[in-house]
Amino acid sequence: MLNMMTMAIREIKKYPDPVLRNKTSKVERIDNTLDLLIEDMVETMHAAPGVGLAANQVGVPLQLAVIDLSARENEDQRYPLIVIINPEILTAEGSVIEEEGCLSIPEYADKVKRAARVRVRAQDRTGKTFEIEAEGLLAKALQHEIDHLNGLLFVDRLSTLKKSIFKRRHRKALVEKA
Ligand SMILES: [Zn+2]
Repeated sequence: MLNMMTMAIREIKKYPDPVLRNKTSKVERIDNTLDLLIEDMVETMHAAPGVGLAANQVGVPLQLAVIDLSARENEDQRYPLIVIINPEILTAEGSVIEEEGCLSIPEYADKVKRAARVRVRAQDRTGKTFEIEAEGLLAKALQHEIDHLNGLLFVDRLSTLKKSIFKRRHRKALVEKA
């Protein structure tokens, strides 16, 4: 008999996989299958290791992401594991420019401009709607993951010049691996 609770590490899709470019669909049913996907995503994120993972990064085009900043915990701020289903950004204020990376774009990091504070509405893994107000690292992670769900990558937010540097470097890396 198959143990349905067995967690599994899933393959993280890498740029330029088209699944990362498509807008994801609304989650209509929060059931056991979705819960297993969430468990797998958390496991996959921790194993990477990373601080966030969107469902389309493991090839599932649904509006779902997980964020765990607990490795960055300090005395002032403790971060719980956050599951966001069908998230939307209600308000975004201020701006910060900070370095970002992405599990789907290994070995590349660059400075990205983001809102400094966001208010996000989403459903949790039980389907309950909640709102979260965030700044700092969490605000950055929420915007990064919600971008994923809209088919956007952090490199899309770079300046035209930096974008072309990224693309050139990426092509070169592909050639070297071939
Ligand atoms: Zn990412």
